[in-house]
Amino acid sequence: MAKIINGKEIAKQTRESLKKEVDELKRKGITPKLAVIMVGDNQASKVYIKNKSKACQEVGVEYEEHILDKNTTQKELLDLIEKLNNNKEINGILLQSPLPSHLDIQEAFQTIDYKKDVDGFHPMNVGKLALGQDTFVSCTPSGIMKLFEANDIDISGKNVVILGRSNIVGKPLVQCCLNKNATVTICHSKTKNIEETAKKADILISAIGKPNIVTENMIKQDAVVIDVGINKLETGKIVGDVDFEQASQKASYITPVPGGVGPMTVAMLLNNVVKATKQQI
Ligand code: NAP
Repeated sequence: MAKIINGKEIAKQTRESLKKEVDELKRKGITPKLAVIMVGDNQASKVYIKNKSKACQEVGVEYEEHILDKNTTQKELLDLIEKLNNNKEINGILLQSPLPSHLDIQEAFQTIDYKKDVDGFHPMNVGKLALGQDTFVSCTPSGIMKLFEANDIDISGKNVVILGRSNIVGKPLVQCCLNKNATVTICHSKTKNIEETAKKADILISAIGKPNIVTENMIKQDAVVIDVGINKLETGKIVGDVDFEQASQKASYITPVPGGVGPMTVAMLLNNVVKATKQQI
C-alpha cells in the first residue's frame, strides 16, 4: 500500500517557513507585494486568485488585484503590466490564464519584467532553467520537486516519465528533473504505446487533465506516482488523472487529489514572491 504524500501539510510547513522570512523582511521595513492581473470572469480563475490572495494574507505578503473587463485590449493589458513593472512597491506580477482569445498571452508574459516573473513563464526564466541556472521556476514543477525533497525521494539516476508537455507543467518539469540527474521521458497525445513507456517509470508524473487516464497496468510495482491533474466530474467531485484506488495498491508513494500537488503550487508562488523581493533589495 502506497504512502500518501501529504501536499497540504508540506505546503503548510512551507508557508510557515516563508512567514518567518517575511517577518524578517518586515523588521527591515520591507513588505513583499504581489500584483495579480485577471482579464474577464472565468470562474475557475476567480477561485484560483482567491486562493492565492488567502495564501498571501497568511504569510504576510501584500496582495493587489487588477480585474480587467473581458473586452480589454492588448495595449491596455500591456500598459498595465508596464505600470506594474515600473512600480517599485510591486515585487511580483502574476497574469492569470486563460485570457480571452483576442489577447496574445505570450506577448503579455514577455512584457512582465523577468525579475518580477514569479510564475516563471518569461522566456528569460524558461531559458535560465534550461541552462540549469538559478531562476524563477514555474510553481507546479517546483512544488513537485519540493514534495520529493520533503519525502526523501531521490530522483537521481531514476527513470522519470512525465505525461503531458504543457509550458506550465510538463516542459519545465523535464528541466527540473534533469537538473536533479534523473533520466527523463516526456509523453503527449501523439505518443505511441504510452502504457509501455509509463510502466518503465520509477517515478510517473501525470499532467494530462483527464480523469482515470492512468490505470494500474501503467504503473510499475513500487513506482512513485505524482498526480498533477485536476478534473471536475459531473457529480462535482474533484479527481486527478490517476485511478487512485488501484494505483495506491501498487505504488510506493502517491499524491492524492485534492491535497497533493495543488497546495504546493500556491506555496511555491509565495516562495517566488519572497525570492523576488530579496533579489530586488
Ligand atoms: P494542457 O496544457 O491541456 O496539457 C495537457 C497535456 O496532456 C498536453 O501535452 C497533451 O498533449 C497531453 N495529453 C492530452 N491527452 C493525452 C493523452 N490521451 N495521452 C497522453 N497525453 C495527453 O494542461 P496543463 O495546463 O498542463 O494541465 C494538465 C492538468 O493539470 C489539468 O488537469 C490541470 O487542471 C492540472 N494542473 C494542476 C495544477 C496544480 O497545481 N495541481 C497546476 C497546473 C495544471 P499534446 O501536447 O499533444 O496536446
